[in-house]
Amino acid sequence: MYIQSCPYYLQKVNALDELESEILKLGGSACVLLNTRFLVEVKLLINDCPVECIPFDEEITLAALNTLASTVLENELEVIVGIGGGKVLDCAKALAERLKLPCIVAPSSPSMDGATSALSIIYSESGEVEKILHLSNHPRLCLVDETLLLNAPPKLFKAGVCDALSSYIEGRDAYSSISAQVIAKACFDTLINESEAAYHACLNQTPHESFSHCIEAILYMSCFAFENTHESLTHALAHSFTQIPALKSLMHGESVGLALLIHLNLINDSILNQQVNRIYKLLSIPKSFTEAGIDLDNEQMKQLTHLTINNELSANYKGELDASILYKSIQSLI
Ligand SMILES: [Zn+2]
Repeated sequence: MYIQSCPYYLQKVNALDELESEILKLGGSACVLLNTRFLVEVKLLINDCPVECIPFDEEITLAALNTLASTVLENELEVIVGIGGGKVLDCAKALAERLKLPCIVAPSSPSMDGATSALSIIYSESGEVEKILHLSNHPRLCLVDETLLLNAPPKLFKAGVCDALSSYIEGRDAYSSISAQVIAKACFDTLINESEAAYHACLNQTPHESFSHCIEAILYMSCFAFENTHESLTHALAHSFTQIPALKSLMHGESVGLALLIHLNLINDSILNQQVNRIYKLLSIPKSFTEAGIDLDNEQMKQLTHLTINNELSANYKGELDASILYKSIQSLI
């Protein structure tokens, strides 16, 4: 049995107020990668610690990583911090790995479940998933500011719910430990039972216990679950979406939302289907490509089938999977 997870997870209202003291626990200076829109706010939170704030709104590519690594080395910075969306956090983690420095991640939205993982996705210049880096360390700390997350657009919460619902469904055949099994199920049940109330909290930007629970489910439990079981068909599909021009504009969690329905069609479990479909209805999550505003033709569906069958994560799917079965399931989502 091998159990892995991010060692420290701090979730609370205004958690970013703790940023400076958390940096100082790990070193005397930091490189803070962040989405430009947080630049002013974050600078106000740092008083005594020397930091180099670097706005990062581009794709995480190997070229971008090389440039950032030079900056950190030139300035002899000791901690890498990422504040923002998934690409900023992935970049911070990959940079920390490259330079063997501790990393703090602070997600600005709950749109996906990878913040605490020891994974970093590298994209090509044109935005396709190029490589998944398996890092030797998790971020040292995940700082989850509920105030920041509550102010994120509700569609980001919906994307995160989809990403986290997939962890239990993808990992059902691969429980390596009791803790993975218990946490995966707790994540799923929390979202099934509380995501409606949490979504309304999001819409009204009003704190609510269910919102806190769902954030923990998305950002901590789901990641623990997928890292200690595995991702399979849903994520094989979602990563393949990035190579189809018509699907490229979808956020990761939105892709997972559609991919999960294709996966559920194949496993044909009526209770799981009902539970997931109920949440999609309550949160107005698209249940077809058309509802998501996407026009997918036969050629693109064939291409998606081919890419998915050949994606390494499909090997983790335990059911019967061949091109014609998968194509039909994709087609049923038109
Ligand atoms: Zn995901």
